Amino acid sequence: MERYVVGIDVGGTKIALGLFDHRKRLVAEKGIPSDPDLGPEAFFDVLIQALLKLLAEESVAWEQLQGIGLGMPSFIHFETGHIVKTSNLVRIRDFPARAYLMDKFSGVPIILDNDAHVAALAEHRMGAGRGFKNMIYCPVSTGIASAIIIDGKLFRGTYGWAGESGHAIATPGEGLLCGCGNQGCFMSWCSGSMIVKHIQNWIAAGEHTLMTELAGGAENIACFHLEAAYDQGDPLAIKALNQMATYLGIWFFNLYVTFNIDCFVLGGGLLKMGEKLLAPVRRTFDQYNRNDMPVYFKTAELGNHFGIIGAAELIFDY
Ligand SMILES: [Zn+2]
Repeated sequence: MERYVVGIDVGGTKIALGLFDHRKRLVAEKGIPSDPDLGPEAFFDVLIQALLKLLAEESVAWEQLQGIGLGMPSFIHFETGHIVKTSNLVRIRDFPARAYLMDKFSGVPIILDNDAHVAALAEHRMGAGRGFKNMIYCPVSTGIASAIIIDGKLFRGTYGWAGESGHAIATPGEGLLCGCGNQGCFMSWCSGSMIVKHIQNWIAAGEHTLMTELAGGAENIACFHLEAAYDQGDPLAIKALNQMATYLGIWFFNLYVTFNIDCFVLGGGLLKMGEKLLAPVRRTFDQYNRNDMPVYFKTAELGNHFGIIGAAELIFDY
C-alpha cells in the first residue's frame, strides 16, 4: 500500500494543502481561502472537507496517510497540539486542534507547529540551510520571529514556542505597544506592520514624506510605499529603513551571541527590499560582532511551497 503525507499551511488569508508520496514528492495540492470569521470547529471542518476532497481526487484513502502536518500562525503547545492563540485568525484560540483532528482521522499521526518552525524545517532540509548543522530561520514580514535548528533538529523549548525572540524586549517602557502585550519589543521597532505605525506617528507629529502622496493618505501607507519613497531619497523613508536595520541587526546579533549559530536564513515579505535592507542590517551586526569567524546571512530559497513542504517535514521528521 502506497503511503502518503499531508502538509497543510494555514495562513491568515489562505490555506494550502499538499499531498506528498513517501519519497517526499509533491503529488497534488489545493488552496482554499482562510475565513477569519469562523470559530475553531467550523474553521477546521472546512479544512477537513478540503483535505477529504483532495484525497478523493487522488484516490487516496485516509488510512493510507502516514501523517498530517499542519503549520499555523499560532502559539501551539507542541506536546498536546493545543492552540493557545493565533495571529490574524483571532477566533482560533484556546482550542484542542490535534484532539479535534484525531477524532476525524483516528490512528493517523497529526502534528501541529507554528509557521516559523515549519518554514525552518523546510529551509533546513531542502532550502538555503542545507548542509548546515545549526541554523536560525527568521521571517521578516508583518511580524518577526525566529526558529532554531541545533544539530540538525528543530529546538522547540519546553512548551513549544522557542524562538519567539521578536518579542524579546529591546527598550523597556519605551516605544510602541505590540500585539504581544508589551511595549518596546524588537518587533515593535522593526516589523513591517510596526514600522508603518512609526511612520504614521511621525506624520501625525508634523513630519513630511513622499509616502503620504504615494499611498494616497497616511492611513494607506504600506511597506512597498516605504521602499518606493526610499528609492527617491525621501528622508523619512531613510529614517524608517535605518530604524529597521538597526533593530534587526541587533536582534540577529543577540541571537548569534546566544546560540553561536553561523547560518541565518531570512524569509518573509520585507526581504523583497534586498540589499537596501540587508546591507545596513549586516553593517549593524558587524559593528557589534567583534571577531571575524564567518556568519552567513542567506535568503530563503524555497518559493511558495515552503509552508506545505515544512508541514510535511513535521511528519517525515517524526
Ligand atoms: Zn512584541
